[in-house]
Amino acid sequence: MKVICPVCNRLFEAECTPYTTDYNNIKYYFDTEICMLAFLREPDRFAFKCKKNEG
Ligand SMILES: [Zn+2]
Repeated sequence: MKVICPVCNRLFEAECTPYTTDYNNIKYYFDTEICMLAFLREPDRFAFKCKKNEG
């Protein structure tokens, strides 16, 4: 499965990385530990924007 690292926007194979995390019930894959740590520090900055009905 191809996934995109939310931190550096690089496309890679999800099976090739041990760096994953769950945030707001969405699983995120990272190509490097550095990217994962950056995400965990400021998850709202990197989390994919999901369309939600507001109000
Ligand atoms: Zn990355």
